[in-house]
Amino acid sequence: MITSVAASHAKGKFATDRIFGANAAANRAAAKYGKENVVNATIGVLLDNEEKLVCLPTVEKVYHSVPMTEVVNYAPIAGVPEYLEAAIDLTFFDQRPDAYIKAVATAGGSGAIHHVVWNYSEIGDTLLTADWYWAPYKVLCEDALRKLDTFPLFDADQNFNVQGFAAKVTDLLAKQNNLVVFMNMPAHNPTGYSLTDEEWAQALGVCKEQAKNQDKRIIVVVDAAYIDYAGEKNACRSFMKQFGGLPANILVIIASSLSKSYTLYGQRVGAMIGVTSSQEIAKEFEDINQYTSRATWSNINRGVMRMAAMIYQDKGLLAQVEAERNGYYKLIQERAGLFAREAQEVGLKMLPFKAGFFLSIPSQKSEAVCEKLYEENVFAVALPKGIRIAVCAVPTRKMAGMAAKIVKAKAAVGDE
Ligand code: PLP
Repeated sequence: MITSVAASHAKGKFATDRIFGANAAANRAAAKYGKENVVNATIGVLLDNEEKLVCLPTVEKVYHSVPMTEVVNYAPIAGVPEYLEAAIDLTFFDQRPDAYIKAVATAGGSGAIHHVVWNYSEIGDTLLTADWYWAPYKVLCEDALRKLDTFPLFDADQNFNVQGFAAKVTDLLAKQNNLVVFMNMPAHNPTGYSLTDEEWAQALGVCKEQAKNQDKRIIVVVDAAYIDYAGEKNACRSFMKQFGGLPANILVIIASSLSKSYTLYGQRVGAMIGVTSSQEIAKEFEDINQYTSRATWSNINRGVMRMAAMIYQDKGLLAQVEAERNGYYKLIQERAGLFAREAQEVGLKMLPFKAGFFLSIPSQKSEAVCEKLYEENVFAVALPKGIRIAVCAVPTRKMAGMAAKIVKAKAAVGDE
């Protein structure tokens, strides 16, 4: 009997979604025990303290004022020019590096990562990211017939593990000429870590050393999905100045997204921003990525690109959006701060959180711990190396007591 008609490279593919599964379990528990008695720390969207999905009010207002012709029309494949200008300017603010900088519109940050994988690595190559990572990186690599390897993000003192990073970069470049490295910074998912400027200098130092070999090409992808929740805008971007004056065989690509920055997850608007010391490589960046857009989704959401341009062009509106977002940044910091204080009190080890939507607890038995936590009506996501808590989604009052429950669940399953 014929049970598959898929092409050989597509056979057996299916997406498992741990987050969706844990979220569904949380919803079942809420129906049974009442919402107030359930902590749902699974979902990566911003909820207020009433557990309502947040849309920044000024974003909502401007969204509704976008002319209908802009909503319905096709967009240029590269993106609406005023949107691209806004995307570049808001990516860097005052920290613009001295380099050629070009932007191409993408379907969210995911779209940018898709294009990087396709256009900057060979089929069969291995791409690199930290051992704590956003699972879709692997899916995006494997679907395009590439592999993903990891370096240890932290050393024993919970600082950036530059030795571990250097070892993997060196090892992979001994086997292949192109190396794509995903750095989800600042405000890393799932740990909430941000490399310091000094740690960025170390990472770039490793790349520069390898780039002395002119046959090698290193693509540093800064996945900036959470950058607008990473602290004071210029302080959390200061590392970007270091992207100026790099050798031509190091290309930095920043993946930006309106999903979190404008609370518009479902609108699928983002951009990839290429930063290079070479005019030709900047031109190539625009050409090849536009071409891949044409071949993947054609053009993206024109109405929301226009909306972002309208906000950018009106400094009053932009300031309002920043103020509203800053309020939610503070709310997330308050929730994470409460958790971190209690974690310290009860002796729970957590990874160094600086900012962002998530924090993580290392665990050898994350699935067992998460299942044990279900009994306490606490729902979190089990990752290969630990447990991810979505601080973006848990009201402050429900953060209280969670660290103690995790300690108890860890002890119950023998995960000390
Ligand atoms: N990168 C990371 C680390 C993320 O967590 C997300 C969203 O969850 C994205 C990128 C991209 O999201 P989007 O494609 O919605 O912009």
